[in-house]
Amino acid sequence: MTDIRTILRTASHALGDRLEAELLLAHALGVNRAWFFAHAEDALAAADETHFNELVARRARGEPVAYITGRRDFWSLPLEVTPATLIPRPETELLVELALARLPEGGRLLDLGTGSGAIALAIAKERPDATVHAVDASEAALKVAQRNARALGLKVTFFHGNWFAPVTGETYDVIVSNPPYIEDTDEHLGQGDLRFEPMSALASGADGLDDIRKIIAGAPAHLAEAGWLLFEHGWNQGGEARALFSPSAWVDVSTLRDLEERDRVTGARRPSLQI
Ligand code: GLN
Repeated sequence: MTDIRTILRTASHALGDRLEAELLLAHALGVNRAWFFAHAEDALAAADETHFNELVARRARGEPVAYITGRRDFWSLPLEVTPATLIPRPETELLVELALARLPEGGRLLDLGTGSGAIALAIAKERPDATVHAVDASEAALKVAQRNARALGLKVTFFHGNWFAPVTGETYDVIVSNPPYIEDTDEHLGQGDLRFEPMSALASGADGLDDIRKIIAGAPAHLAEAGWLLFEHGWNQGGEARALFSPSAWVDVSTLRDLEERDRVTGARRPSLQI
């Protein structure tokens, strides 16, 4: 009989990561991680041990923890994720903060390429006064996002289609997106968690900016006067992203940095009408 403490120590060593071992064991046992504190001496049932060892083996072969457990926390929200959705990253919380700071009382927000719904749901959670719409080209991803909205009791209206196609005629105060932005030939696509994530959520043409170009081109027709477009991009794409905004159509073009002090979000605003 192996106890909880021993099996966690062994798995942490094998994976080189204590948190991952705890997340997998919590998933195998259907408990939360806090439970381990009071149960370190408990013996593990043989069936649970076998199940846990299978999960550790999957992780050791590279599968992301979030896809093994089907869960990932983002902002304050426990989210379901599947291989149909990108795994939400902590740096994307910057986009949520910037959108919240720019969304007027009772405002309207659109999230393009919502995936698991992470960004739209975080904003809906903080701002029940707002109207939040979210679009994704993947029906499988939208099903996950809808289940997340239902499980969290949050109101987001979801639309299926490419970028602005399903929201023709709608206008917003803020449009946000974490689009695909990795260069097609970037070697990182063949490494780590990215190997298991949907390529359509990661890669975007030779310079990684194909989808960002489409979003910038389509946004003016869907933004209210003085409305904001904000999108995430790679740490080395800030300058190129700013250069895509035509000075005749946009003001206040700027790039903001994430907690690791890397360029992460670029945004710009539609001009106010002159009086
Ligand atoms: N930030 C992710 C990564 O580089 C990519 C996400 C994206 O393309 N939107 O791992």
